[in-house]
Amino acid sequence: MKALSDFMDADEIRGLSSFVPNTREEYIKFSQLSYNLKLNTEVPMTVHIEPTNKCNQTCVMCVHPDMQRTVGFVEDDIAYKAIDECAEFGVYAVHFFFFGEPFMNRKTIDYIAYAKRKNIPVVSVTTNLTTIKRSEIERMVTDGLNSVHISFEGLNREKYAAIRGTDSFDKVIRNLDYLRECKAKHGRDNPWISMTYVRTSETDEEIETFKNLWKDRVNNFHISPQFDYIGRAKIRETQGDVNSEGIMKRSDADRLPCRQLWQRLVVLSNGELVPCSQNIDGELSVGNIRDMTIAEAWQGDKMAQLRGEHLTNRIPKDCVCSDCIDWDWSGKVDSRKKLGRSSIENILKDADD
Ligand code: SF4
Repeated sequence: MKALSDFMDADEIRGLSSFVPNTREEYIKFSQLSYNLKLNTEVPMTVHIEPTNKCNQTCVMCVHPDMQRTVGFVEDDIAYKAIDECAEFGVYAVHFFFFGEPFMNRKTIDYIAYAKRKNIPVVSVTTNLTTIKRSEIERMVTDGLNSVHISFEGLNREKYAAIRGTDSFDKVIRNLDYLRECKAKHGRDNPWISMTYVRTSETDEEIETFKNLWKDRVNNFHISPQFDYIGRAKIRETQGDVNSEGIMKRSDADRLPCRQLWQRLVVLSNGELVPCSQNIDGELSVGNIRDMTIAEAWQGDKMAQLRGEHLTNRIPKDCVCSDCIDWDWSGKVDSRKKLGRSSIENILKDADD
């Protein structure tokens, strides 16, 4: 069987830490590689910037009502400092979203435009498309936004309202169609449109019908599992099928290091820097962007300690990761195959060939 040292020497492995991807393919491969090799990269592959933690909807699967942080908007100095650093350090993807509806902040479209002017390769946003103005939709296209992820569940107006808490089904469709019109008017392929759909008891049985309904309007679907958010998403307790292939079934003993610790950093609207999307109140804060750079936080002692605890599976009981069951998160849980004994043997066999 071949070992990694048959392909790369130690200097080459160390050199990978400063690799800056230039294409989407490189970004995807390098994101996976940095996790597999547990590389100490100089910066995260992806940075989330939270324009606001305010939201206008009350989705049944969301833990937003449980959030303890003060609700507000990111200040300009935090947003622009974060964007400038991402551009300077070579962060590949900046995503304007964390916990809240980004277009409740009227400056979000300006942050997106600025990030594109700073030549950040991929700039994206997740939105429910209910509070956005038509002028902002057109600017998504003209300012160069790369991708938009539309949060949407429900086959009709009634189901949509029951799941997401507002009667906005028709408005979202109008806005989505206007976005497509703007793309055609300006002759642009961007933004790439993805529809994000969270599996819940309410939505599970209609996924294929849902896809058929919207497939001509979007580029892709992202069917997401429902997360537990460290015990805060009570809906999971009542679900017979917890809607994932293994996400809750691993024992603590064979727990793997959480991939988020090698891939992303989030800038909360209050400037706190957190390494994952499950600690919605910033429980795992590794500092505040007012006092340090994104690179300093990413390479700092707190991140190193967290990664070490995960690598050795010695996570202290008082760390939120200890109670987290979302660590087995890949973003593509639905299509992931279980890695049984025969699959492992095939992988080893391939390595021998
Ligand atoms: S284990 Fe859970 S709380 Fe800890 S970093 Fe991973 S997703 Fe976040």
